[in-house]
Amino acid sequence: MTLGANMLAILACPSCKGKLIWNQDKTELVCCGEQLAYPVENGIPALLASSAREVSVDELEQIKS
Ligand SMILES: [Zn+2]
Repeated sequence: MTLGANMLAILACPSCKGKLIWNQDKTELVCCGEQLAYPVENGIPALLASSAREVSVDELEQIKS
């Protein structure tokens, strides 16, 4: 599954309104500022604080690279 660039451009972190990056491996949208990952199921992002998980610094580096 992929997310289009158009979709990524309009999505923002529900918490800090920061930019999200797409993690293809885990089909998550990641907020780098807060180290939070939001799940995407069936192409629909679950941008809710209650669905987010914490991402470790190491993991974040991997996602960014
Ligand atoms: Zn955020």
